[in-house]
This record gives sequence, C-alpha cells and structure tokens, in this order.
Amino acid sequence: MVTCVKRRTFVLGGVGAVVLPRHRVVAGPFTLGVASGEPDPDSVVLWTRLAPVPLAADGHGGMPRADVAVEWQVSPDASFRQLVASGTATARHDEAHTVHVVAGGLRPDFEYHYRFRAQGHLSPAGRTRTAPPPAAAGRDLTMLFASCANFEAGYFTAYRRMAEERAGLILHLGDYIYEGVAKPGHVRQHLGPEILTLADYRRRYGQYKVDPDLQAAHASAPWLVVPDDHDVEDDWAGMHRLDNLPPLSAAQWVQRRTAAFRAYYEHLPLRPRSAPAGNAMQLYRRVPWGRLATFHMLDTRQFRDPQACGGGSKKCADADRPGRSLPGLAQEKWLLDGLAQHRGAWDLIGQQVFFAGQLNAAGVGNMDAWDGYRASRDRIQRGWVQRGVRNPVVLTGDIHTGWANDLKADYTDPRSPVVGTELVCTSITSRGDGTAKTSIPAGDVNPHLRFYSDRRGYVRTTITPAQITADFRGVDAVSRPDAAVRTLASFALRDGRPGVNRL
Ligand code: FE
Ligand code: CA
Repeated sequence: MVTCVKRRTFVLGGVGAVVLPRHRVVAGPFTLGVASGEPDPDSVVLWTRLAPVPLAADGHGGMPRADVAVEWQVSPDASFRQLVASGTATARHDEAHTVHVVAGGLRPDFEYHYRFRAQGHLSPAGRTRTAPPPAAAGRDLTMLFASCANFEAGYFTAYRRMAEERAGLILHLGDYIYEGVAKPGHVRQHLGPEILTLADYRRRYGQYKVDPDLQAAHASAPWLVVPDDHDVEDDWAGMHRLDNLPPLSAAQWVQRRTAAFRAYYEHLPLRPRSAPAGNAMQLYRRVPWGRLATFHMLDTRQFRDPQACGGGSKKCADADRPGRSLPGLAQEKWLLDGLAQHRGAWDLIGQQVFFAGQLNAAGVGNMDAWDGYRASRDRIQRGWVQRGVRNPVVLTGDIHTGWANDLKADYTDPRSPVVGTELVCTSITSRGDGTAKTSIPAGDVNPHLRFYSDRRGYVRTTITPAQITADFRGVDAVSRPDAAVRTLASFALRDGRPGVNRL
C-alpha cells in the first residue's frame, strides 16, 4: 500500500519558522523496521516483516493472502554501492510475511549494512557485523544487554540510547513484549485484551515494533535474544501455569504457548533452527565470539520444574530438593559441557532470572528465580569450578532493577569463596521512572550483592581479553520521551579473578 500525503514540515530558520510543504511516502510494508542477529564468523540473520497496517486485528498487518517476494542486500558501505551478498526471500502469508534470511559468505569480524525491497518500497537500512574467527580474539567488543520493555510502563528511550552506543552486539534477555490487557493510567496503553491467539500475539508485536526507538536499537547492531515469562504469560514454567488467569483448559494452554512461541520466532532475528516445532522451541544455544568470549544463551522457562511452594516470595524447604531443575537436567549438562570447552576468555551466560542467592534474614526468597531451584544452581556453580572455568559471568534480566553480584560457593557463609560474577540489567521501562537511589535496599543481608539501581536502562560492557568493564546506564525518566542517559556506576571484572570491582 502506497500512501503519499502532503505534509507540512517546520524548519527552524534564523528568525521564526519557515514552513515548507513536501511529499513524503509515509506508509509502505516496512512499518516494523529491520533487524539482524545470531552472528557467526561468516553469516548473520537478517529480519523484516511486511505490515502496511501493523495493528490489523487479524494479525496479518494488512497484507494480502498471497506470499510476497522480498529482495535483500548486504554491503560493506552505508551507500550500498558495492553488494557482497544479495538474494530474494519469500515472505509467506502463513508466517505473517516475516522473513529470516541467513546472509552467508561474509568476512569474519566485519561490519555490514543491509536492507530489503518489496512491493516497490525500500526498507530502512540496518547495521550489523560478523563474529571473529575461532582462533582470533578479534577486536574489543562493546556488548549491551537489556530486558523487560513493558510498552505501557513508559517510552522506549533506553532502546534509543542503546542505538546511539553503536554496539557490536546486543543481548535481549526476555520480556520483549508483555501479554496483559490495557491498564488505564499508564504512559501508553496496550491494544486489545490479554493476548491469547496467534493473531493477538502478532498484533502485539506489531504494536511494539512500530516504536521508532525499538527499531533504532535493532538497526544498530545484531541481537541475541531469549524469551522470559511475559513473552508467553506471567510466571509460566514448562507445561505448568502458576495462576490460571484467564482460566484455560490444558489444551487451550498448549495452544497459547504454541502461538506465543510462533510469534516470538516470527518477530525476532533467530536462526531458522530455532523455529518452533509445534509446542517446542530450541532456544538454548552457544554463540562463539572467537577467543574473546562464548555466549551461552539459556532457556529458563521451557524445561523448568514448577515454582516451589506455589511460587512468590517464600521460605521454602522444597526449593532445596535435589531433583528440581530450572534449565532442566539436559540443559544443565549442555551448559557444563560447553563451559568445559574453554573456547573464549570469558564465558557469558545470557539468561533470565536472578542467579545469586538473595534470601532475607527470615530465609524468604523469590521462588521464580534460582533461589527456588537451589540444587540446580549448586550443580552448575560446582560444575564450572570442577571444570576450571576461568571467567564465568552470568547476565540476567527479569527483576527491573540493576545489580552487580559476586557469586558464592555457599550463599549462607560469608567466608565462602567467590566463584563467579553476575551482572543484572534493569528494565527498559517496566516499573516506571524509579529513583536515583543506588544503594542496596535496607535490610538486605547478602553482602555478595554489591550494587543496586532503580533506574531504567541497560548495561554496557566493554569486553577485552584482560577485563570486562560494565557500565550501568540509566535514563532519567521513562514517563516522558527522550530523557538523557547517564552512567550510574561502573565495575571491572578481571581475568582469572571472579567478582566485581567498583571503579
Ligand atoms: Fe519483566
Ligand atoms: Ca520476567
């Protein structure tokens, strides 16, 4: 659909404003932007979706029933004078006209630009890059990570500020969308009821992805993504629902999970091997970054045992039961096997829920986080110690506040050795503006938790062979657009010495 409108643009002159009329194409199929992800040394996934009417109720974005050809181009320069890879993909009606192109034959550790063309329209261009080859450390890497972007809770300014960093890689650790019905009184409102069907999920992704700040973050760098609970529904655990709201039969819950997985894959730049097969999706995966780092991306929802003692914040002896697992026993083994390969200087574990022990003085902890699966956490930590893993670093989302943590062999013993490091990003918007407070909440009895922040934002890491510098970046507000970002605190993680060091 082509819509040309006469538009008036105000251009500020020296004295007052000059009004210039101009013609501009304001609609076309590329309303949801472009994205890239999953870089390896010679390829990257390129993503877009055709949706001239992104909020169409049937979830098809205003597209006809037919499949549509989409041309794609990759160039080393932003002007696209020279193409190093190009082709034509098919945007299928039954996939909501999304495309996942694996652009191959690229140079390792190299920056590229990409774009699409369909139905006579050219997409915006995105910037991406490949990973270094296996034997090389490559250049230092700026990696950002973020999670939890509730559209209703505020403007996506943190995504805009991430785009401005021009990072090498962005990790998104879940809650990319929220599934709830519109709640009055928020900064912005979800469209429609709580999402249940494939059409609902597709339209919800449409509502999020029209946001220009989110589009800018996708266009700025390749992403590695893993979902958490709200990408499907609040606090789900495997085939278990923590609450039954709205009430669903077992079959309806399977349908909902299937729809959510399908829409998640459709809208994010995942490799085709992650495409869901019915009600299952292969999301845990390793992404090597030469000799510098290995990203181990975990799936902490699909295979977990139900939350102990009915979930919530509790003192719960059942959380210690040895048979319980958060990633599932197969994924625990997969993670430890991967850590034993010692491929990169840093083993970065991208996952969703708070990893360090955080029980209060009365022994109460969050049963949705690793505190509700303590034997599983112990097996993983002991496993990496036994395998001599030099620099294990857990990267976490979910709790809408920022934290920097020393990981301890025994969280109940202050003299227990530090065996790893955890960095927890705050949210993009969830929990609202927050406060400038950066001290650990009063009453916290866990000295291994070294930093807390209640601002919205992201974590910026600069990864070198000898050190990771982690900057906790916070935006001043999310209740108004375009707020400034600032560094709230910085930490150094030093090679061979687990734990955080405040700079
Ligand atoms: Fe969240
Ligand atoms: Ca969550």
